[in-house]
Amino acid sequence: MTHHKIRVRFAPSPTGPLHIGGVRTALYNYLFAKQQGGDFILRIEDTDSSRFVPGAEEYIQEAFDWLGLPFDESPLKGGDYGPYKQSQRREIYKQYVNALLDKGAAYIAFDTPEELEIQRAETANFQYDASTRDKMRNSLTLPAEETDSLIKSGTQYVVRIKIDPEQEIVVDDMIRGKVVINSSVLDDKVIYKSADELPTYHLANVVDDHLMEITHVIRGEEWLPSAPLHVWLYRSLGWEEDMPQFAHLPLLLKPEGNGKLSKRDGDRLGFPVFPLQWNDPKTGEVSSGYRESGYLPEAVINFLAFLGWNPGTAQEIFSLSELVQAFSFDRCSKSGAKFDVEKAKWYNHQYILEMSDTDLAKQFMPVLQEKGISASTAKVEKAVGLVKERIHFISELWDQSYFFFIAPTTYDEKTVNKRWKEETPGQMQQLTGLLEGMDDFSAANQEKTVMDWIQQNQYHTGNVMNAFRLAIVGAGKGPHMFDITEVIGKEETLRRLGTAIDSIGK
Ligand code: GLU
Repeated sequence: MTHHKIRVRFAPSPTGPLHIGGVRTALYNYLFAKQQGGDFILRIEDTDSSRFVPGAEEYIQEAFDWLGLPFDESPLKGGDYGPYKQSQRREIYKQYVNALLDKGAAYIAFDTPEELEIQRAETANFQYDASTRDKMRNSLTLPAEETDSLIKSGTQYVVRIKIDPEQEIVVDDMIRGKVVINSSVLDDKVIYKSADELPTYHLANVVDDHLMEITHVIRGEEWLPSAPLHVWLYRSLGWEEDMPQFAHLPLLLKPEGNGKLSKRDGDRLGFPVFPLQWNDPKTGEVSSGYRESGYLPEAVINFLAFLGWNPGTAQEIFSLSELVQAFSFDRCSKSGAKFDVEKAKWYNHQYILEMSDTDLAKQFMPVLQEKGISASTAKVEKAVGLVKERIHFISELWDQSYFFFIAPTTYDEKTVNKRWKEETPGQMQQLTGLLEGMDDFSAANQEKTVMDWIQQNQYHTGNVMNAFRLAIVGAGKGPHMFDITEVIGKEETLRRLGTAIDSIGK
């Protein structure tokens, strides 16, 4: 291959929401392109109109906007190699179909689906190829005039690629190495259908990769079986010299490791398999997305990068630009990568910890507003800063921090039975007096004052502190006690102590 600028493409078919495995494929394309100073292109492969789903293309764009993986060329953005939607490239493909026919590298076939069915029923493992094509109804077996007149009279036909038997086909894969197959195992695949005047996936894919000067085809393992045919098409079109380099990425497997990760696994185990929520336009079914489930895009990217690749070091947290630097096909695995929900959550947790309290508070404010709580930004920032190490998702913030914003109205019964003793109301009364007299209500000063008082009176630290917590939080949970009381302030602390003494009683 000669000194081309690196150009890669992500080539989804708009047949529904993008599976998370597709996102991983796109990510690896992006990482490789950016590392090499190359271009990352979005091409929409919509030649199969029967599988077209409205909204799917917009969904794909939105997903990559959210993830922060911008395309250098795409249907929306345009570029020098457009159009970037295959349905808008019909005329281009026709030219190459004709070129293949003219060269004798492809032929026209008239066999109806029924006729093919009969063949399949009669011959075990029937395959349309060099061993059978001369028994079929095609331009190789029919006289030229008959072929012409059939076409003229509007008979539907397909164009098939003519695969010569007993040829060596080499797929040079950056992950798997050289894969050599014998052409005899391939069939004469349909590359064009007169019915919709469109090429099939294989031809459109190869023609576009060539015309768009794609240097590396990085895609899911499920396309590996198509690769020999694609190599054959390059050869037939006279483009073998400029063939892109292939890399077929390992499958994403079920958490248990057996078989491909599916939407059903997600439903069963409670995790999304799509980047964004998807509302099926036909069935009305709603499928959850990473975005709506509270994942941060940086966490999703970091997590996905590790499903099939590793840096060879212990480092697990990588920013996008660090991934661009570190990525290599040498460190991509050949075997499938097991999907691990706990790891996804762990990554989200790590990225939440990396967020500033200011940013975290900004995301939490709307939640508080919805609950009718007005609190100062400073207070919200302090509260989230104290509990962020306990959450995996922003949606969990409320459960971990509500007591900063609302006083308890009930008290956890188990904790009451265990922690609220005979002597507790009296102690809490004394504690109230102690705190009331303090001017510096910082956590450090409270702690010192309260601990001294406990020691002087030879109280049991655990009993006093747990009762105190119960009075302030309403349950035996939350971050460091004096951090909570510092944030809610002296007045509120005293009020809550009073309420607890009155209502828990004894
Ligand atoms: N349109 C194919 C897909 O939906 C593209 C496969 C490829 O990247 O060659 O995945």
